[in-house]
Amino acid sequence: SLTAGIVGLPNVGKSTLFNAITKAGAEMANYPFATIDPNVGMVEVPDKRLDRIQELIPAKKVVPTTFEFTDIAGIVKGASKGEGLGNKFLENIRQVDAIVHVVRAFDDDNITTVSGKVDPLDDIDTINLELGIADLDSVNKRLGKVQRAAKGNDKEAKAELAVLEKIKPVLEDGGSVRSIDFDEDEQKIVKGLFLLTSKPVLYVANIAEDDMADPENSKYFPEIKEFAAKEGAEAIAVAAGPEEEIAQLDDDEKAEFLEAEGVKEPGLNRLIRASYKLLGLQTFFTAGGKETRAWTFKKGTKAPQAAGIIHSDFERGFIRAEVMAFDDLDKLETPAAVKEAGKLRLEGKDYVMQDGDIVEFRFNV
Ligand code: GDP
Repeated sequence: SLTAGIVGLPNVGKSTLFNAITKAGAEMANYPFATIDPNVGMVEVPDKRLDRIQELIPAKKVVPTTFEFTDIAGIVKGASKGEGLGNKFLENIRQVDAIVHVVRAFDDDNITTVSGKVDPLDDIDTINLELGIADLDSVNKRLGKVQRAAKGNDKEAKAELAVLEKIKPVLEDGGSVRSIDFDEDEQKIVKGLFLLTSKPVLYVANIAEDDMADPENSKYFPEIKEFAAKEGAEAIAVAAGPEEEIAQLDDDEKAEFLEAEGVKEPGLNRLIRASYKLLGLQTFFTAGGKETRAWTFKKGTKAPQAAGIIHSDFERGFIRAEVMAFDDLDKLETPAAVKEAGKLRLEGKDYVMQDGDIVEFRFNV
């Protein structure tokens, strides 16, 4: 399954955020891997559609979908040279599918920072530079091999060479691969290079509690957002400390706390949804009977493979899917009304699943 890795300099609030995430997910009764790896946290995806479906098609229970965060500890300057835990750090990043990059964006003289000042853009630069140096190293190694092959008639080598030559100067300039525009063919080649700075990234500003109600007003958040936009990335603001407290409250207390802070929903929910999107994940639903449930699939998944997420038998014996869009059920309020309006669809094995589909799979056993 796909996982988002939480990355950042020491003392920016990574562990606090990770704790908030895992506490929010700790209530999940039967997550079998919970004790295997302390650095992996399972999180529920908050989704109001699930409540609405349960209201319209009541089931015995409601099961949200989940995905994984990985806490990646220990970046230090010089990681790309293998100093300290450097190699391990880069190796851990190589294994995640997206990066959640946390930066310190609050003032507090009692909590020290690595650089001795609060400067989120400088922090971002420090980490991206380490990742960029590691990438440059990979690119140079690859260039050595490909250059030789490209001298002959090897078309693939020539294409890869062109991509490498496009990437190299950007990295030498301290930039990230994700900021480069590639066409579709080039993208395929880039994917095969497994570069760290080509992974999708979400910048998370750990803001002060006082700025929770209006992050735009934070001293640091606007510049982080602006930087992210230049990379084609997204930035969100959360206050890790308070979020960790909120995550431990029951629903009533939570509502009270949020109201006192002047915010509508926990920032953690926004972080979870943004990370889910960053990973290219989407949700379909099954409804009624024993349970109403949300399921995670990778964007572009076809119906039989989506059925296989529920059970491998469903994929093997797949006949068709009966599908209605959440928005149609939401509007028309009963499955019968959706059917009458001609909006209950029968889809075959080539159907590409859409976010919000409510599905019943038909299959042979
Ligand atoms: P990590 O090294 O990046 O994992 O950072 P930690 O999560 O351990 O946080 C470092 C210090 O900052 C701890 O003392 C936290 O309690 C504190 N901290 C984390 N988030 C916040 C926050 O939102 N506000 C304030 N004031 N302190 C925070």
